[in-house]
Amino acid sequence: MTLKMITNCKRCSQHIQENGAAYICVEECTYCESCADVLEHTCSTCSGELVRRPRHAMSAHKTANRSGWSAYGMLPY
Ligand SMILES: [Zn+2]
Ligand SMILES: [Zn+2]
Repeated sequence: MTLKMITNCKRCSQHIQENGAAYICVEECTYCESCADVLEHTCSTCSGELVRRPRHAMSAHKTANRSGWSAYGMLPY
């Protein structure tokens, strides 16, 4: 399993790079910046608010209680 901070936008399937802007909703759907704009920062799947995903600075202490993050391959679990 290759662990890289690369995520695909749920809407356009574009790769979101580690240092690129990404938006994520409460259900952890991920979108690129342009799709988040088009969707007016509202998730098209669950209608949750899209918030900007922290960049590389994201660290374990902030995500320890959100096991769901590991599904994105962002943490080396
Ligand atoms: Zn997109
Ligand atoms: Zn969602």
